[in-house]
Amino acid sequence: MKRLILLLPFALIVSLSLSSVSAQFSQHFTERTMRLDYFHSGTASEEHFSPDRVVMDGPWAGSQTRLLDSTNLGKYFFEVIARDTNMPLYSRGFASVYGEWETTPEAREMWRTFHESLRFPWPRKPVQVTLKKRTPDNAFVEIWSTTIDPNSRFVVRADAAPRGSVWTVFENGPASQKVDLLVLGDGYAGNEMEKFHSDVKRMVGKLFEHEPFKSRKADFNVRALDVPSAESGVTRPHAGIFRRSPLSTHYSSFDSERYVLSYDNRTIRDISSAAPYEFVSILLNERTYGGGGIFNLYATCAADTAFADYIFVHEFGHHFAGLGDEYYTSDVAYETGASSHPEPWEPNVTALHDPSELKWKELVTPGTPLPTPWKKAEFETASNNYQKERRKLRASGASEDQMEKLFSEQKQRETELLHSGGFAGKVGAFEGASYETKGLYRPQVDCIMFSRNDVGFCPVCAKAIERVIDLYSRP
Ligand SMILES: [Zn+2]
Repeated sequence: MKRLILLLPFALIVSLSLSSVSAQFSQHFTERTMRLDYFHSGTASEEHFSPDRVVMDGPWAGSQTRLLDSTNLGKYFFEVIARDTNMPLYSRGFASVYGEWETTPEAREMWRTFHESLRFPWPRKPVQVTLKKRTPDNAFVEIWSTTIDPNSRFVVRADAAPRGSVWTVFENGPASQKVDLLVLGDGYAGNEMEKFHSDVKRMVGKLFEHEPFKSRKADFNVRALDVPSAESGVTRPHAGIFRRSPLSTHYSSFDSERYVLSYDNRTIRDISSAAPYEFVSILLNERTYGGGGIFNLYATCAADTAFADYIFVHEFGHHFAGLGDEYYTSDVAYETGASSHPEPWEPNVTALHDPSELKWKELVTPGTPLPTPWKKAEFETASNNYQKERRKLRASGASEDQMEKLFSEQKQRETELLHSGGFAGKVGAFEGASYETKGLYRPQVDCIMFSRNDVGFCPVCAKAIERVIDLYSRP
């Protein structure tokens, strides 16, 4: 009884502060989502923004308490600022298809336009929305700003008509207090919806076998949305196969054969708005190995490859926590090989300019030298041989079975090699990361962001994921 009395004032303070925070939310926002659509155009050396439209975008699923983003993730960052007080009301970091495209050779030759959206709780009063971009020294500089009066005649105060039906995979509580993941399917024909449901359950099940998702499952809601395609499969340009699937996902993004993205942001957003969500995974009804993931946009994954489990979780790591690729020996579309590297914003890659200021220094295993020695040369020789073999197989039009056989062989060989060194399993700074052989370092010799081995997320990646879970689920 005494204990109960002692606890009461604390409970009272917590509930009072929570209600004042949510009062603060409702002072500025309603519980709907506002979506600012715009076009992002440019080349490798200049970029421009133009508004498309402002629409209502379904219920607000995000936190009502953690409105300002303190994670410092993303190439871009937007803020919603009250016009009357000039105080920031909401902010989030993100990355974009444009942000990747501008680093490809094509961006030096031509202009392109990509459609993008910013989503935030529906403001009651006029706001200014500012968009910032990270400079190489990690400062955010404003590159666009626009004002929105929520009561203007040009703001569409109506939700999109639902396309497809939403179903619950599992639900643990109100959307505002949970991370809300929405799974979409592309290339599933009307008679393949049962397969879509079983693919969703299988893939989501795999995600929650990995830490830290496993321990934090109660902080998530997962829903899925049935959007049947007219025919089975999606566009695979390298194979000469083209489909007008509802989400327009396609292989060969930036001409990289296994990189799957969609440039039809407007449609993906309209379709997704039928459900409360913050994160989106798109499953492709495809046997061909492929996927992609962009921070705070979406992740994609081919559901029927032998490595689908790995792809789903790896790509979700990009999308959810802004994790960088730790691998560096595979072919990529981006331009690489710069002589010096600024410190990357991704939480799991460093340029190690000053080992005493390493951003994951509190996780470094005591006694581990920085940089950390590993069997780098041996790994690169083996990996380059597999890359050559892979290119040869692709060029000869080899089947997915043959490709997967090679991947399995590589997996076995690399697991042996990586896990036999002196610092295997330790956190340090291992050179070779983010497509660069030299000058960029990863936290552990192996991680699901580095290889297809059965290793899960390294402690640095796991910690980054936990911070994002907190951002959406903690009061
Ligand atoms: Zn990692």
